[in-house]
Amino acid sequence: MKSKGVLLVISGFAGTGKGTLVKALLDRYDNYALSVSATTRQPREGEQEGVHYFYKTKEEFQKMIEQGELVEYARYVGNYYGTPRAYVEEQLQKGKDVILEIEIQGALKIKERFPDTLLLFLLPPDADTLEARLKGRGSETEDVIAQRLARAVEESQYIDQYDYLIINDVLETCVETTHQIIQAEHFRTYRNVEFLESMKKDLSRFVCH
Ligand code: 5GP
Repeated sequence: MKSKGVLLVISGFAGTGKGTLVKALLDRYDNYALSVSATTRQPREGEQEGVHYFYKTKEEFQKMIEQGELVEYARYVGNYYGTPRAYVEEQLQKGKDVILEIEIQGALKIKERFPDTLLLFLLPPDADTLEARLKGRGSETEDVIAQRLARAVEESQYIDQYDYLIINDVLETCVETTHQIIQAEHFRTYRNVEFLESMKKDLSRFVCH
């Protein structure tokens, strides 16, 4: 996958505010495109086809895998989730920075296949804040909250494979920092090989003979 834009992954524990961060990036800056995943899980109340996910049966999802339509996919809590290839490629070619809001297994698969993917992990400032945020949502039972916290413990084992940690303490700072990190990524030497080559060629006029 050749790209002009940066392909980036934002992962984080449930309750760290990934959705809020992504929405703020999309609202404030015009360089981002969000990839909408395919999933076999049922829509939650208020979710819309093509906005939150493309909802698929197991058979349809399997067919997408077989036809190479997914860049990556993973099983998460009994359901399949995958990133459709076509949209990602099209947006990267247009120069958009494409955001994948996906979990760790998928993120690591993407990084293996496309090493210049930028992996960002969103963390709460501390464990107490994470617990308080999950409880504060008021939408989940004690049991589900305990499961999500246990999952955070598991996921924390893999975070050191990510490129950057983003701490979501004050949302404003978090949004700004994330945007700056992504923008800096555009200036990496290896992302500007063509420019550098043409600069070297141009400079060769000044070689003393
Ligand atoms: P939820 O069911 O809460 O919407 O999502 C469950 C988990 O699946 C979240 O961690 C979310 O980031 C992840 N996820 C969503 N789409 C994809 C995808 O296309 N691929 C992978 N690997 N994970 C995804």
